Amino acid sequence: MSSSVNKPLNKSAVALSHVVYRYPKSKAPILHIENWQVGSGEHVFVHGRSGSGKSTLLNLLAGILTANEGNIHLFGQSLLALNARQRDAFRANNIGMVFQQFNLVPYLSVLENIQLAAHFAGTTNEVVRQRCHSLLAGLSLEPQLMNRRADTLSVGQQQRVAIARALINNPRLLIIDEPTSALDSEAKSGFMTMLMQLANENETTLIFVSHDETLLPFFSHKISMSELNLAGVSYVD
Ligand code: ADP
Ligand code: MG
Repeated sequence: MSSSVNKPLNKSAVALSHVVYRYPKSKAPILHIENWQVGSGEHVFVHGRSGSGKSTLLNLLAGILTANEGNIHLFGQSLLALNARQRDAFRANNIGMVFQQFNLVPYLSVLENIQLAAHFAGTTNEVVRQRCHSLLAGLSLEPQLMNRRADTLSVGQQQRVAIARALINNPRLLIIDEPTSALDSEAKSGFMTMLMQLANENETTLIFVSHDETLLPFFSHKISMSELNLAGVSYVD
């Protein structure tokens, strides 16, 4: 089932209309999405080759990059209607992001990394500590890990901590960028099962991008960058 069918805008978690983006030094647009909607609670797999604009799309959705043309609505909120400070607050309260490189602060502990994300949404440290315990348990991470420095963790552990950090504020939208590239196939399937369970329990809208098409069976909705992106980007395979 495609996620791009025309749904009423007010029921959409994510709605893009005529979004065009070019990086400051590039002449031609990297991304041009004419019309795309994701319904609330959907789990969408966006696949596409390296260089097809997946990470650019996620940064636009999170309001980290701003489109040159067009607009993005998240849960009915126009991103264009927010100033930079309001966008940061909106992101902290509504969006969890897991970046390709996880972006944990290496010299902070697991707990401190998660507290930092919660701080921006105004969640108190005591609430964070309790939620942290249940999130880490849900992600099969031992509670002793809470006080370990992030840079002493294995790649698989860092990835789970990045997921816990993205979920700590109970985001309505979870955006995940190629999280399984460092995992072997067994770890990958365990990770995907856990992720889907967490997203289902919290009724989270999930947008997950990857070039790895073996992950398709985990999703009910899928779309490819070649369908979505009308810009003539040059792919590097
Ligand atoms: P993907 O995540 O699918 O691999 P990206 O969104 O990272 O693709 O990149 C899409 C295109 O934009 C590529 O051609 C890439 O070289 C280009 N690009 C990415 N980041 C920048 C940047 N900061 N400045 C200029 N071009 C960029
Ligand atoms: Mg990328």
